[in-house]
Amino acid sequence: MNLIFEGSVSGRQGVKLPSSDVPVKIKLPSQYLRSKAAELPEVSELDVVRHFTRLSQRNFSVDANFYPLGSCTMKYNPKFTEKVAGMMGFADLHPLLPQLQGGEKYAQGALEVLYECERWLCEITGMNAYTMQPLAGAHGELTGIMLMAAYHKAKGNTHKKVVIVPDSAHGTNPASAAVAGYSIVAVPSDKRGVMDLDKLKAVLNDEVAGLMMTCPDTHGVFNPQIDEIARLIHSVDGIMYYDGANLNAILGRARPGDLGFDVVHLNLHKTFATPHGGGGPGSGPVGVGEKLEPFLPVSRVVKRESGEYALNYDYPHSIGYIASFYGAFGIILRAYAYMLILGREGLKQTADHAVLNANYLLHKIKPYYQVAFDRVCMHECLFSASKQADNGVHAIDIAKFLIDRNIHPPTVYFPLTVKEAIMVEPTETESKATMDEFASVMAEASALAKSSPESFKDFPLRMPISRPDEVRAAREMNVNFFDRPNARG
Ligand SMILES: *Cc1c(COP(=O)(O)O)cnc(C)c1O
Repeated sequence: MNLIFEGSVSGRQGVKLPSSDVPVKIKLPSQYLRSKAAELPEVSELDVVRHFTRLSQRNFSVDANFYPLGSCTMKYNPKFTEKVAGMMGFADLHPLLPQLQGGEKYAQGALEVLYECERWLCEITGMNAYTMQPLAGAHGELTGIMLMAAYHKAKGNTHKKVVIVPDSAHGTNPASAAVAGYSIVAVPSDKRGVMDLDKLKAVLNDEVAGLMMTCPDTHGVFNPQIDEIARLIHSVDGIMYYDGANLNAILGRARPGDLGFDVVHLNLHKTFATPHGGGGPGSGPVGVGEKLEPFLPVSRVVKRESGEYALNYDYPHSIGYIASFYGAFGIILRAYAYMLILGREGLKQTADHAVLNANYLLHKIKPYYQVAFDRVCMHECLFSASKQADNGVHAIDIAKFLIDRNIHPPTVYFPLTVKEAIMVEPTETESKATMDEFASVMAEASALAKSSPESFKDFPLRMPISRPDEVRAAREMNVNFFDRPNARG
């Protein structure tokens, strides 16, 4: 039963509004008035609390469930970063303050956070400078490609028309390059799961503006030829773009700048303290080496000789604003707090444990599912449900089975290069016990796929909504309470 609507009891009340302490003289024009009073549920405060608590429990969340969604990292909101983000001095700061005459001196702490966070990210990734403005990974990609375009324009490289991506690329990579006006050439992966070098050479020419890559890539594999790829791209004055969604695999161990990349976006909401995919805000800072620095968006935070922080707009070659104000400040603040508390060694351990955990799961699950690339993986491991699919049980069916077992499904059907892909990322925060439980549930699913493949059609059985049309749900989102064809009540 739905307490708010069906549980309405005439005359029941949860709040008492104070009587107006100002005379109400204005009358609304009649065209703005309803003909009938709004039908609001009449419920007590307790009814409302229970209703919303129950609704919140219908959601899968990192706070309640194991969440091995691949390519998304952070499955945990560290509580102390939440506390830092809620501090009054930060949370109540008005974003226009630093732009007011003399206002900067009241925003020194926030400007210092932006400045210092940028310095840390430079050190971690081997870049010269960052813009903290972009509001998501994809937004960072567009910014990075615009920087690439500004570089070519400034050099008079009018013949640059193509951006190369590996076939395993996240969909946002080619989309961002296309939005910025480039045409896309995809290069296939070889048997090891990394970009095929000969195929890259075959498409390389003077029209290539740059290459976008994730490293380790979305197969969970580190590309051992990355320096050779960078040399090739640079030989035609192309720009090496690093998609930092998988940075947590190499934190403190390798730096994109040292690997030959010229521009980097990071997903602070994947690598540094904020989980991705919760529908909340993201943050996709973009770092650049020397070549692209003059084109960075304004404003930039500078530290004056006096030690004071200030906003500087005086960059004549800048591509301009890419977002209002200074980025998703709350997310940046969490990331900075996270980096400070972990420190150099802690960040390294994060990467080491993430890789160890993924390999542990790879080893435990391998007996039951085909492995996409049979080698040591980085921070995520990639399976294929192709054996199970021969029996009519597909990756999506296994995902739905896991929901009934209170496990959030891993990423399925991505990357597109692997049939029936199941991409598992445990991250460093999960315990051995949780991973053992997950591996045994995966084994159970595999056994059931053999003994009773038809039973998979109905999973999940225990959820309020069973099998929505996922494409329609995304494209024609209808959150109208009264119109839920798939609801089980
Ligand atoms: C998540 C992801 C992106 C896009 O980041 P958003 O913050 O979701 O826009 C890009 N590339 C890869 C590999 C990703 O995993």
